[in-house]
Amino acid sequence: MSADSKRRVSVVTGGASGIGAACARQLALSGDLVIVADRDLERARTIANEVDGQACHIDVSDETAVEACAAQIEHDCGAVDVLVNSAGIIQVPQRPHDMKMSVWDDVVRVDQRGTYVACTAFARRMIERRRGNIVNIASVAGMRSMPLHAYAPAKAAVIAITECLAAEWGPSGIRVNAVSPGYTLTPALKNAIDRGERDVSSLTVNAALQRLVDPDEIGRAVAFLASDAASAITGINLPVDCGWLAGTSWST
Ligand code: NAD
Repeated sequence: MSADSKRRVSVVTGGASGIGAACARQLALSGDLVIVADRDLERARTIANEVDGQACHIDVSDETAVEACAAQIEHDCGAVDVLVNSAGIIQVPQRPHDMKMSVWDDVVRVDQRGTYVACTAFARRMIERRRGNIVNIASVAGMRSMPLHAYAPAKAAVIAITECLAAEWGPSGIRVNAVSPGYTLTPALKNAIDRGERDVSSLTVNAALQRLVDPDEIGRAVAFLASDAASAITGINLPVDCGWLAGTSWST
């Protein structure tokens, strides 16, 4: 089989749950061999079995481990065509002067630094082949003020990182885009709702469509950006938010 006709290999960090798992399912529907990469290997195996893919352990906050993971995947599965960075942790809303800096450090280490580390580890190999495709999961929290004083700046940084890397690697044939989900009903958000930290009506009141986003709706946007249908699209940040940004801009 020629390199051009081989089955696409897609890696999804944070693929064991929520938005990452939805991305894994959509990419598998596109015919890709999907590698579900997560720090929770057991759950990664469950999703990998479901999509007929493979699982691997990754902790995106550890750059040595990410580099080893990228090398292992290429050795076992061949060249990686698509990288989706969905690994992330979410923060409880709190006032900045009450927030411990350990919260800032943890969120930035995974959501911001981890995204950058995974981009560079996989792109190093994509650059050699002059093709590749990266989609970073940012958030509408990186686009509007929210009482998430570590998470929001980290996600704003992911949007900036996406744009910078798209400009840097475009001449090497690599596209880099972001998707910014609005409030999406994943295990992370459901747990926060169950614990009483978030409440559905306040999360949806400003959304034009008056509902939460389904993870599959994020997965489909990611699969589109990763596809040839988006071949001229790079450096963008695509909100998938049920119109939450439109609703929060409304003033009379
Ligand atoms: P989730 O908790 O359901 O899934 C996150 C996954 O990331 C988990 O499987 C977890 O094990 C993995 N992970 C966490 N830290 C990791 C690390 N250091 N290395 C590797 N894997 C790690 O959460 P989700 O809601 O699906 O969130 C996925 C992404 O979407 C995150 O980046 C989050 O910030 C973003 N997002 C979520 C929402 C939402 O409303 N759910 C909204 C906007 C953006």
